[in-house]
Amino acid sequence: MEDIMKILRTINEMKAYVEGRRHKQIGFVPTMGYFHEGHTTLMDHAKEENDLVVVSIFVNPLQFGDQKDLQTYPRDEERDVAIAKEHNVDCIFIPSVDEMYPYEMEINMRMNGRAKRLCGASRPGHFDGVLTVLTKLFHIVEPDQVYFGLKDAQQVAVVYALISEFNFPIQLRGIATVREEDGLAKSSRNVHLLEDERQVATALYTTLQAVKQKVKQGERDIDTLRRHGHHLLTENGIEKIDYFQILSYPFLDEIPTVEGQVIIAIAVYFKHARLIDNIIVDETGNELDHI
Ligand code: AMP
Repeated sequence: MEDIMKILRTINEMKAYVEGRRHKQIGFVPTMGYFHEGHTTLMDHAKEENDLVVVSIFVNPLQFGDQKDLQTYPRDEERDVAIAKEHNVDCIFIPSVDEMYPYEMEINMRMNGRAKRLCGASRPGHFDGVLTVLTKLFHIVEPDQVYFGLKDAQQVAVVYALISEFNFPIQLRGIATVREEDGLAKSSRNVHLLEDERQVATALYTTLQAVKQKVKQGERDIDTLRRHGHHLLTENGIEKIDYFQILSYPFLDEIPTVEGQVIIAIAVYFKHARLIDNIIVDETGNELDHI
């Protein structure tokens, strides 16, 4: 650990920081800020497993289709910097949009397959934007290990493809979802929930657990499990379901029965927020808690 946390805002500064520390193992946690325990858990894991931890905060316009969502995305840099310090982060990289994208990118990344399903279907271009910013950040930070939350398991699957298909010399770590006491996955977007919605939102987790229980009891038929999940969400007051899906993981292919690793994934709309949650289970219903 180094004494004072560095706050860097330019790509050149960030590259110079890494250049002087080539002998150290670097753990990198890319984020969009507004830290909660989900983020700090990633920082803590990175700290434990590396010599240095670099965290980035960048609300990446390329991955937002909806401009209102981008504009209202919660931000609090001062608080984030204080939290990162508390978690012994060594360096925090906070580039501006102009720094990352001085002009409109002329090269577009476009991913098919697993990036087109689940959230990729309702947020066209989202994962292409994620891939673009991560490709840049991976080149700038040159980490040995990168840390992502399984809360966004599709993102983990997409990053896994990026790293393996483009041969980044980086180890991917997927960390278990951090939840509130009642099971709601911690998310920066939870602040947008209205009071009554906050109660209803627990249905995401209870539904995932109930469907997992069915798998444990021996139900393998995906159609049956999906109908059950849909029914539970509706019964518990979720009015607008984007998807309730069970797919192979990490390829996210449609499959008729639970075999090997599958993701049980939910996305729902509330008035001002779209929430997602998932669990990854094997065919005996055992939940995977890291990758
Ligand atoms: P974000 O700032 O929302 O882009 O998230 C940054 C990283 O934190 C991503 O890898 C997320 O998957 C991860 N993350 C967000 N919420 C949670 C959570 N509740 N538990 C674990 N990881 C999380």
